[in-house]
Amino acid sequence: MSNVQCPMSGREAAVVQSSQKDIGHWTLDIGLKVSDLRKSYESPNGDRIEVLRSISFSVLPGESLAIIGPSGTGKSTLLNLLGGLDNPDHGSISVGPFEITSASFSSLTRFRNQRLGFIFQFHHLMLDLTAAENVSLPLMIRRTSRSEALACARKMLESNGLRDRCEHLVSHLSGGEQQRVAVCRALVTSPSLVLADEPTGNLDAANSDLVARSLTEYARKNGSVVVIATHNQKLAGLCDRTLQLHDGCLAPVKMASQ
Ligand code: ADP
Repeated sequence: MSNVQCPMSGREAAVVQSSQKDIGHWTLDIGLKVSDLRKSYESPNGDRIEVLRSISFSVLPGESLAIIGPSGTGKSTLLNLLGGLDNPDHGSISVGPFEITSASFSSLTRFRNQRLGFIFQFHHLMLDLTAAENVSLPLMIRRTSRSEALACARKMLESNGLRDRCEHLVSHLSGGEQQRVAVCRALVTSPSLVLADEPTGNLDAANSDLVARSLTEYARKNGSVVVIATHNQKLAGLCDRTLQLHDGCLAPVKMASQ
């Protein structure tokens, strides 16, 4: 996937600059670092379910990491923590200089809008908007003008083989096309960290391959960190590295192609 660089308007540059002040001078030199992460939930009978026991790993800039494990092992829980959508019981997560686990609510919100791309199994697109309108939304939230945001969105869709679908309502696209639009929406802001939770769970082999290659190529070309939770071994094999989640702990796995 090629990354589209969009020139920032003066107003957007000011917003980005002020939020960079909040989240520190930004460089992804140290990638993603996770240290002794633990998470448990309370079951209806009051017991604690320990989902993540002591998770530590790091991912270098430009690297793609697959987290594999059967359903219910805690992959979504881990991704939600990495994206700052939930709080751990213990441990720390940092992305470049930004420590997610100790961030204030407002700097976390800015981090998510400016540095994070999230892709879900069910794409969560706005079905009554066009593909280009959907992809332009994260830019408009960053206060890019509508015309500039739509131009960036169209470029992004074109570079992902969806040129003829830009003006189609998302509800009229196939499942594979919809998920590729969701990938464009996640990458249009050039995020430093991309989290994908079972992104190919509903796709056929050809579309799974397109989505997986878009994400791993994005990491390589942009020096970003991509983490993909999946039970699809073929998708995991396309990533630079694979870790298996089992009994609340992560262990390295050697895939045939890695
Ligand atoms: P996976 O993504 O690997 O399928 P999840 O992270 O969704 O696994 O879930 C891991 C375990 O945590 C499951 O047993 C699930 O029932 C439990 N769980 C997840 N979220 C909650 C929650 N909010 N409250 C209680 N239990 C939860």
